[in-house]
Amino acid sequence: MGFSFKCQARCSHSKARAGIFSTPHGLVETPKFMPVGTLATVKGITAAQLEATGAQMVLSNTYHLHLQPGEAIVAGAGGLHRFMGWKKPMLTDSGGFQVFSLSQLRKITEEGVIFRSPRDGRMINLTPERSIQIQNALGADVIMAFDECPPYPAERSDVEAATERTYRWLERCIKAHQRLDEQALFGIVQGGVYLDLRVRAAESLAALDLPGYAIGGVSVGEPAELIHQIVEVTAPVLPPEKPRYLMGVGTYREMARAIASGIDLFDCVIPTRWARHGTVVVGGERWNLKNAQYREDFTPLDASCPCYTCQNFTRAYLCHLVRSREILGYTLLSIHNITELIRFTEKIREAILSDRFTEEFAQWL
Ligand SMILES: [Zn+2]
Repeated sequence: MGFSFKCQARCSHSKARAGIFSTPHGLVETPKFMPVGTLATVKGITAAQLEATGAQMVLSNTYHLHLQPGEAIVAGAGGLHRFMGWKKPMLTDSGGFQVFSLSQLRKITEEGVIFRSPRDGRMINLTPERSIQIQNALGADVIMAFDECPPYPAERSDVEAATERTYRWLERCIKAHQRLDEQALFGIVQGGVYLDLRVRAAESLAALDLPGYAIGGVSVGEPAELIHQIVEVTAPVLPPEKPRYLMGVGTYREMARAIASGIDLFDCVIPTRWARHGTVVVGGERWNLKNAQYREDFTPLDASCPCYTCQNFTRAYLCHLVRSREILGYTLLSIHNITELIRFTEKIREAILSDRFTEEFAQWL
């Protein structure tokens, strides 16, 4: 029981590593992509279908679950795992990212963030303590610190203030955390695009000896090259014996480059969001299945993909479902897209284990 991270192999040409993150609900073999199940569901697919994609850890959102159905109901069901019928590891974010995205609806103070619920208009006061209480009630294996996520672009002085506040809030999160044996609290490195602020934040977080660390505040509109630079300078400062999670990133190139800098975990809404727009990822490319070229294409989406969608249906059928706005279309495309991103990280893991990562994935680095 409890938590541990074991590094199994290190790449000899980059900082990439393959590891095993143990949680009370099982193992996560890293590097690994985590699908997002915002409201205790990965949209459109069942827990059994999700398991078949190779998913080992699933993310859910504190902010959304607090608004609906409320953490008391999830706790009453026996926690998030039982509520949604998912037996493997889970992670909840802190709600910080969502609250800071509500630019019109919030007031930020040292105490926390006060915002008007977009659901019913009531005022909600989300503080570091409250975020941890909610996450303790939800019961995911990994919970995240409540952080201030500055927008991009932002003035250096504003980002510096947000980064320092994030540290003070982290100290409050650590004090508020009640379920140390069952839930690992990860700290989040902020610092915007200012690399010296990132390094300083990572150093002060590393000193707290947390069970894991995340790099947050990326993928908020900045160019991909900046994400790469941020990760490249930040990841090596984080303790090597702890898992590292890059929040909100899930494209081939960004994941491959982040893994080369020593990142272990990723999450992104892309696979399910794109599925709802009829878009699939095949070999890292984006295809829109509504296009006429697929109407009479009776080949599988990707003959080399082991997913249920690729094994059983043609591009013509998927094109038909998408054009007809059939629910099954969203389901089948989500199954494929999630499988695709997880397989990409699994293939990288295999390559790291045999020390062929930079050679085999050179096109993405
Ligand atoms: Zn597939």
